Amino acid sequence: MDIQRIGVIGAGQMGNGIAHVCALAGYDVTLTDISQEALDRAIATIGRNLDRQVSRDKITEAEKTATMGRIATTLALADLGPSDLVIESATERETVKQAIFEDLVPHLAPHTILTSNTSSISITRLASGTDRPEKFMGFHFMNPVPVMQLVELIRGIATDAPTFDACKAVVDRLGKTAATSEDFPAFIVNRILIPMINEAVYTLYEGVGSVASIDMALKLGANHPMGPLELADFIGLDTCLAIMNVLHDGLADTKYRPCPLLTKYVEAGWLGRKTGRGFYDYRGEEPVPTR
Ligand code: NAD
Repeated sequence: MDIQRIGVIGAGQMGNGIAHVCALAGYDVTLTDISQEALDRAIATIGRNLDRQVSRDKITEAEKTATMGRIATTLALADLGPSDLVIESATERETVKQAIFEDLVPHLAPHTILTSNTSSISITRLASGTDRPEKFMGFHFMNPVPVMQLVELIRGIATDAPTFDACKAVVDRLGKTAATSEDFPAFIVNRILIPMINEAVYTLYEGVGSVASIDMALKLGANHPMGPLELADFIGLDTCLAIMNVLHDGLADTKYRPCPLLTKYVEAGWLGRKTGRGFYDYRGEEPVPTR
């Protein structure tokens, strides 16, 4: 199946990156959100990130202009009707995603492939709420999308081979590498990564180390490019908590219980970089640990 038009739902930190890499690879992209402000912010971010690629000689000014020209934005989900492939990247809440697919399906052509960038929600369950579970799969990008090489491709129980092959071809055209995961809670990367972050929050909660010492320990002691708390702020603490809850509920094992301190940060609205504060305060020149 030849994919030309890609619809992206959700213009947050992931959605803008997905629109960016798809348009840069030559696809026509329609980006939608419920917030005009999110769409405006996404276009500004894509412009800035493309400028950075131009300044590093990764792309030319003409490629930047052509890429921006291939991205349309809309508040109307129905405008994604002509898409060959839809990548849903809205807020990580199952009810939100289910409602989106329910509203979208009547506008789609029969051949359209539906995918979700969910970090943790069951692909099989999302698929079963649509009219095309065999044309539904997980298309899971890493953050920041323009930089990270991996895409996890997740087959639901009903996903057929042509759908998988079409998505794999898109990953190849984006110049990225696919890892295939079965549809179990949080797939591969987050099944391993998010419990590690949660353990880092427990380490902080129990007073074993400060924010600075925990991050320093993992950077210098395990050769991680970012400390786990810095990384949590980067991912978004609400997203981390949601993934822990999915692991806890889906695998029914107490080893996945979310740290109460992580819950407290989310309750405070300190969600990390995107809200200006998380385990670090980003409102000044330099990030300052909040504990
Ligand atoms: P975000 O909060 O930055 O953006 C979510 C966007 O979805 C917001 O702009 C919001 O307005 C929009 N939205 C909410 N309801 C909508 C609706 N009904 N229709 C259209 N848009 C709607 O979140 P994000 O970090 O970009 O995460 C998006 C998805 O990507 C989630 O499923 C998340 O699990 C997944 N993901 C996140 C990361 C990460 O590191 N943050 C990595 C991989 C995958």
